[in-house]
Parts: sequence; C-alpha cells; structure tokens
Amino acid sequence: MKKFTVGIFTFLLFSIAAIAQNGTSFYATMDAEDAISFKALYPNEMQILDSKDNQAAVFLSEEVAHKIHDNVRTHGPGYIFRASEEKALLALNKVPRRNSVIDFTITEDILVNECLDLVNGQNIEDNILELQGYGTRYHTKSQAVQAVMDQQAKWDDMILASGRTDVHTRIYNHVNTPMPSVILTIDGADTPDEFVIIGGHIDSTTFGNKNDAPGADDNASGISSLNEMVRVLLVKNFVPSRSIEVMAFAAEEIGLVGSAEIAEEYANNGVQVAAYVQFDMTGYKGSNSDIYITTDSYNSSQLNDYLTDLMDHYNDSGAHSFTYSFTQCGYGCSDHASWADNGYAAAFPFEAAMGQDNPNIHSSGDVYSFFNTPDHAVKFTKLGLEFLIEAAKPRTLSVDDFSENAISVFVKDKTLNYRLNNTVSNVKEVSVYNVTGQRIISEEMNDEAGSIQLQQFAQGFYIARFTLENGHAFTKKFILN
Ligand SMILES: [Zn+2]
Repeated sequence: MKKFTVGIFTFLLFSIAAIAQNGTSFYATMDAEDAISFKALYPNEMQILDSKDNQAAVFLSEEVAHKIHDNVRTHGPGYIFRASEEKALLALNKVPRRNSVIDFTITEDILVNECLDLVNGQNIEDNILELQGYGTRYHTKSQAVQAVMDQQAKWDDMILASGRTDVHTRIYNHVNTPMPSVILTIDGADTPDEFVIIGGHIDSTTFGNKNDAPGADDNASGISSLNEMVRVLLVKNFVPSRSIEVMAFAAEEIGLVGSAEIAEEYANNGVQVAAYVQFDMTGYKGSNSDIYITTDSYNSSQLNDYLTDLMDHYNDSGAHSFTYSFTQCGYGCSDHASWADNGYAAAFPFEAAMGQDNPNIHSSGDVYSFFNTPDHAVKFTKLGLEFLIEAAKPRTLSVDDFSENAISVFVKDKTLNYRLNNTVSNVKEVSVYNVTGQRIISEEMNDEAGSIQLQQFAQGFYIARFTLENGHAFTKKFILN
C-alpha cells in the first residue's frame, strides 16, 4: 500500500528512460481521475481513449502500468488489463448485475460449527512457507507455473484420500499470460449448474527483482486459507446442494488477467454464479478489527450484508469469535473486480483497513516471519467455510450416507417415528422436505428414538433428513398417508 506521491525526480528519470526505449503497450481500464493524473505525468506513454462515469479506457506502456501499480491508493494493480481496444471501450458500459439465486439464509449451525472446530492454523503456516519457498511466483517465471501444478497435485491428493468422485480439479490455460490458473470443483448434488465460488491469486510480484517475490501475505496467505477450507470440507465429507468452485488465479498482479479471462468465459457461457468471494491477503493484522469488508461500489452490498450476518451469527462470541469492520479498496483492486465486471455478485473481505495492511507487500520483504502467526488467516478460513456451507447448502434430496440399517422409520397416524441402531450417535435435528426439496419442518431431537408430528401436511411423498451429533446426516424417504 503506497500513497499517490510520484516524486519529480522519479518522474524525470522515468520519462527519459521510457521515451528512449519505447516498451510494449497495452489496453486497460482504470479510475478516471487516476488516468488524468498519470496522463499529465507521462503524456507520451499513455492515451486516454474514452471515459464514462468514473472509469477510463486507456492505452499505456508497461512502465506506466508499473507506476500505477506502485502509486495508486489501492491494494492491487489499480487497473484491469483489456485484451483489445474494443474490449477496453466495451468495459466502460457495465454489464447489468445478475440476480443471485442464493436466499442468504443461515441454517447449517451444526455442520458449520463442527467445521470451524477443525480449522488448523499449522496447516496454513506450513502452506504459506511452502509457497514463499518458490522464491518468486511472478507470472512469467517457471516457478509460477510450478506453483500452480503443485497446487493442483495438492488438491488431487486430498481428493484421492477422501475417495470422492464428485470433486475434480482442472488447469485453466490463459491467452494473456503464460501462467495457468487452477480450479477445484465440488459438484452440486441438487443444482450443479449454480456455482458458489471463492478464490485468490497465486502469483506474486515485486517492484524490483522479479526473481525475489516471496509473496507470503500477498497472496500465499489467501491461497493457504482456501486450502484449509477445502481440507475441512473433504474431512467432513461435505456434499453441497450447489456446486462449489475454489480458484487459484494466475497473473492478478499485472491487471487481474487470470480471473478476468475466467469470469468473462463464465459470463459468455451464461454460467450462473450465485456469489463470488475473494481472499487476497489474510495474514497480517494491521488494524483494530479483524476482518475488513470492502464496500467499493462494484461489490455486492447484499453479499456484504450476508458476510456480516454470518459473522454476527457464528463469530460473535465463543471459541471462534472475531470482529469486523469496513474499508474501501479502490479501482480493480483484486480478482473479485473481474467477477463484478462480468455482472456477478462479488465481495472481498480484507486483512486490515486499507492503508494499515501489510507494508511489505510487492517487495522481497513480504515473508511469513513479518507476521509470523497463522492466527489472522484462520479467521478468514472460518468465514470462508461459513460462506461456502451456507451459500451452497448441504444436499437435500440425496441417498443415505450410512447403511440402510442405520435407522428405521415408520409412519403411523401422520406421525413419523424413528429409531437409530446403536452404532450411530444421537440425532441432533430432524428435518422433513417435500418433493420439491423445500424444508417444511425442522425439530431438534436428542434421543436415539423419537417422533415428529406431520398432521398439518398433505398426503404424499416426503424425505426426512437426520443430522447426527457427530455432524453426519442422512435421509430416508417415506409416504405420509
Ligand atoms: Zn494480492
């Protein structure tokens, strides 16, 4: 985080160098006021093609792009790379925001709390050190490609160990960077075409030597927080109702290149993304509150409200408590802007108030020892789990987790009676769903046998879902007559 103070000495030195070498230029969009400021400083290295509202389409040299990244008051690059003049101009006309299909309810207390208990900071620490150990993950370096391949292998190992066949990974190759992205998908059991997505960038940068870009906080911390979420979801054998995707993006630091190509493809293909949440920098606690929700205009205020509702519900007191506040991040500040740019509901919870975040990012000093604890990142993993489980919801109409013999049910006088065999733990909650998958009744239970009154419901076909104290859940079909 650096202030917009370009010294006159830097300016003169840079201008002479830039005019002399005539480096490659490219199209981008950026904040309109910043565009005017930089155009004044670098008149020969930058063109403003058009502007609308507070956004400008520009053609600029790589050198000016570096200056913008270094000086604009934003976390990320401060501009969004556009592959052509046409795309830059089109981007000025915003895509109308698509309605989210999620209902923003909080219903999965038992499972969420059990998942929060499993979050292990040591895994996050190990993972950050591992990513820092590449030395650099700058998008043109071979180490960046290796980090993505190793990330895929890490996920594949977890999936193999879980025995799951509904979880997959894929490499996403890009047009505008040699670095690939990698995506993990947990297929939705009920509505696989609706996606709840969480992601962060796995590349790194420095303003000096590109071979020395450890990127521990920016953004090994975010990737490590995501990996711990995936681990917990697989340990709990979580099968979502909607599909979940976890993404590690290439080349965020040069203008959100990886996420922009993926988000654009999803939008072009009409993919229904229910919500997108970005994790970029989770390691360094620089402010009084813990998690800072960014409230920039391109973010979804509805999704932001949901994240604060989740934290009010799950993190207000007890073992998993932490605090939150609000901040602003700036133009094109991280990959969530790519999703917002394509009309999707996006949010970005950040590590500190903007300006109080890790001062060492984008330098060789962005190493783990500077913050030296996974405790802050753990809070983000917890928020991420709350978001993924509540937004994607557990499967509803599904086959039994357990054997047919785990429970016996019978219906008499419009009352559902159940009894567990003695190899499973007690039932915590019984819910009944109608054939459309809508939950019509839910009762807390605390015995191995019990009953639930269904007199008010019509005759027909129903599904009972039993959630056990150990977090497992399974279903039984029955007919009410
Ligand atoms: Zn970052």
